[in-house]
Amino acid sequence: MGLVVQKYGGSSVADAEGIKRVAKRIVEAKKNGHQVVVVVSAMGDTTDELIDLAEQVSPMPAGREFDMLLTAGERISMALLAMAIKNLGHEAQSFTGSQAGVITDSVHNKARIIDVTPGRIRTALDEGNIAIVAGFQGVSQDKKDITTLGRGGSDTTAVALAAALDAEVCEIYTDVDGVFTADPRVVKKARKIDWISFEDMLELAASGSKVLLHRCVEYARRYNIPIHVRSSFSGLQGTWVSSEPIEQGDQQVEQAIISGVAHDTSEAKVTVVGVPDKPGEAAGIFRAIADAELNIDMIVQNVSAAATGLTDISFTLPKTDGRKAIDALEKAKSTIGFDSLRYDDQIGKISLVGAGMKTNPGVTAGFFEALSNAGVNIELISTSEIRISVVTRADDVPEAVRAVHTAFGLDSDSDEAVVYGGTGR
Ligand code: ASP
Ligand code: MG
Repeated sequence: MGLVVQKYGGSSVADAEGIKRVAKRIVEAKKNGHQVVVVVSAMGDTTDELIDLAEQVSPMPAGREFDMLLTAGERISMALLAMAIKNLGHEAQSFTGSQAGVITDSVHNKARIIDVTPGRIRTALDEGNIAIVAGFQGVSQDKKDITTLGRGGSDTTAVALAAALDAEVCEIYTDVDGVFTADPRVVKKARKIDWISFEDMLELAASGSKVLLHRCVEYARRYNIPIHVRSSFSGLQGTWVSSEPIEQGDQQVEQAIISGVAHDTSEAKVTVVGVPDKPGEAAGIFRAIADAELNIDMIVQNVSAAATGLTDISFTLPKTDGRKAIDALEKAKSTIGFDSLRYDDQIGKISLVGAGMKTNPGVTAGFFEALSNAGVNIELISTSEIRISVVTRADDVPEAVRAVHTAFGLDSDSDEAVVYGGTGR
């Protein structure tokens, strides 16, 4: 029996009862003969509460102190979980990210893992312990400061430890039974996916599916670590995310044409109005954005009006970066040369994802027909080989997601999409 890494999200350890329930599950895995490493998130909405608290004392908290504060959430849950396991008669030790050897760069609030040196975890395991590791945090290589990996970063901690410890599998326990064909909070008839490729899962994550973080899937693909996403509230098999289809009984699960529909209402749209239609203009705009260290998502340039030779360029980016983008463009306004800026944060994005669309004609047409039948107006469109995305009004998103889900035959016959916990915050 090999080593397993199990990760429990905040809603699985939201209170003392939850912690005791999770402790039992962990002990089961240990009793089955596994070496068990557990990565745990902060209890319930603790991280959000800590952020609220920070904002009350300072509108722009320093990154170093902000990270120091946020990592406290995971420290609480890791210690309580270790206590609960010991209370069941098993040995457990908790470790901060730093103690577990999670080494990162020094970009506070969204640090990247650059190395994992889990010597202390190995020793703890060899001595018969269950090792509990605080998720979402590490220590910077150069300054030795405490860092965090960005919201939802515990998944990445889990996969990184699984890779460093050569684990058999990385189990991600959450408040739903796996990866669904759409967010079960929006689509009651969403279906659980038995197996999904790293590629399709990466596109879903990049398109707003919150069940797994993009960075975590990227890491898993790079080190070829199979992920099993499942619920800590039920005993059901969840979703396997891996490079090769899994066997079920004596059959291989087939690659679906369409994996699912993702949506995202966390972005805003910036429109640069009245841009001269000549070489170098787009470069100027996106250089200003890049120099402000902002990532953008979709870009659309309109055809220029013949009379004026001016055009509009729109792009989307996370709402949280909206202010910075507008400031950066305002600063560069005279050098770039445009008329004005428009900012719209009432937008939403709907994406259809599936490797099968490469070889199945009609997917694009079907997608637009479904949106049209639902009376949804489209503002921006972008595609990759295995994804089509549109931007619409934010209010239209739930209806649009359901319409597309039904149109592609993804609805399940039963209401199997149970949301066991969490506030979805
Ligand atoms: N507690 C952190 C958050 O809420 C990390 C995580 O849950 O993975 O973002
Ligand atoms: Mg959380």
